[in-house]
Amino acid sequence: MAVLDHIKEEVRKRNPHDAEFIQATDEVLLSLELVAQKHPEYIENGIFERIIEPERQIIFRVPWVDDQGKVQVNRGFRVEFNSAIGPYKGGLRFHPSVNLSIIKFLGFEQCFKNSLTGLPIGGGKGGSDFDPKGKSDGEIMRFCQSFMTELYRHIGPDTDVPAGDIGVGGREVGYLFGQYKRIRNEYNGVLTGKGLTFGGSLARTEATGYGLCYFTEAMLNDKNDSFQDKTVIVSGSGNVAIYAAEKCMQLGGKVVAMSDSNGYVYDPDGIDLALVKEIKEVRRARLKEYVGVKPNAVYTEGCKGIWTCKCDIALPCATQNELDEEAANTLISNGVIAVCEGANMPCTPKAIDAFLAAHVLYGPGKASNAGGVATSALEMSQNSLRLSWTFEEVDARLKGIMENIYHTCADTAKAYDCPDNFMVGANIAGFEKIAKAMMAQGIV
Ligand code: NDP
Repeated sequence: MAVLDHIKEEVRKRNPHDAEFIQATDEVLLSLELVAQKHPEYIENGIFERIIEPERQIIFRVPWVDDQGKVQVNRGFRVEFNSAIGPYKGGLRFHPSVNLSIIKFLGFEQCFKNSLTGLPIGGGKGGSDFDPKGKSDGEIMRFCQSFMTELYRHIGPDTDVPAGDIGVGGREVGYLFGQYKRIRNEYNGVLTGKGLTFGGSLARTEATGYGLCYFTEAMLNDKNDSFQDKTVIVSGSGNVAIYAAEKCMQLGGKVVAMSDSNGYVYDPDGIDLALVKEIKEVRRARLKEYVGVKPNAVYTEGCKGIWTCKCDIALPCATQNELDEEAANTLISNGVIAVCEGANMPCTPKAIDAFLAAHVLYGPGKASNAGGVATSALEMSQNSLRLSWTFEEVDARLKGIMENIYHTCADTAKAYDCPDNFMVGANIAGFEKIAKAMMAQGIV
């Protein structure tokens, strides 16, 4: 029996309905088995038991009035997971699928990711089952104001610093910040991903997608390869996907397919990113419209089929569990050489097993998509300094951080005798810093 099996049991007993949370903790605990065998002091001090239990979980009612004058009620969440190495930090997700399990899994992953950035930020996550799709600007604003009217009492620039995630972009962060400032009468860096006119950082919008490509490029360079002339699939067409596609193209790759939650577009000529931005960022419309402008492109209903397109590199950037074992096997038989996660937990455990068994380079999200939160931490630094750095300066720091994360994962994997298993490397390296801080701070 593995040393940490009883902790897996405990997670199941305490969270019987939380499938995503169990999936995320199982993966990490499996990697940490090697650490537990080496460090009995972590077992004696209950580090594993404590690290899988959130420090605080807040659930609240969010009432708001729609354009018809009807009262609507949503549920709000903030899970403050671990503050051993810094204030809680992690995004807010607005999507109808949001529940406590999803927020806990995201908060748990966030702790390790934030640790890997090397910056002083703890882990948290929040959101609501509110669906921004089809809502007017006025409805979005009223919802955000109501959400912040409860959330403000739990957060602060030195306590807990939320940001965006699925369904929460610049517009939502702006409304949330406006309400926070109004209630607290304080102007500070309590949220990141802010607009450039009120404390936002240059390159934050691009950071997760660009960072994903910097990580992937570092991983490929280590094998004497690169993005140059590679065919690439990027799932999703939101914030992460769009800027991953942009950087991939700048590095010489050709993106041939992208998707949204309704379907995917395959364009053998290479995706026209300006057109995708116009459809998704400017008009907030459906990706299907792409083929109306580009007759050579093909649109297919249903997003799962995107993985049947032939590619060298796959960058899943939409949502959790979007790439399953069957999709992984299709990618492998089509000759994929690298899969790096822009989304959080987009590959199912069986898909990951298939990639590792086939020696496909696999970059786990908690490492490869850490560029967003790293740049958020740079936004916090700029807010504290009351300074703004140039795009080039932030982008250069981001690139350095992502290359460093890759090498930390690779070196840690090697040190634990699992060369090229960047999942094990990321889990252990992320854990070690938090564990050391927890040991130093006593039983809290
Ligand atoms: P956005 O809301 O900007 O975009 C999400 C994209 O994924 C959209 O194209 C959306 O389609 C699609 N999508 C959402 N849900 C589903 C679903 N159930 N099935 C298929 N497609 C879906 O979000 P982000 O780009 O910010 O986030 C994407 C992923 O990246 C998430 O996993 C997030 O946690 C992760 N991430 C984001 C970071 C950031 O800085 N934003 C940082 C690190 C990770 P549609 O347009 O139809 O809704």
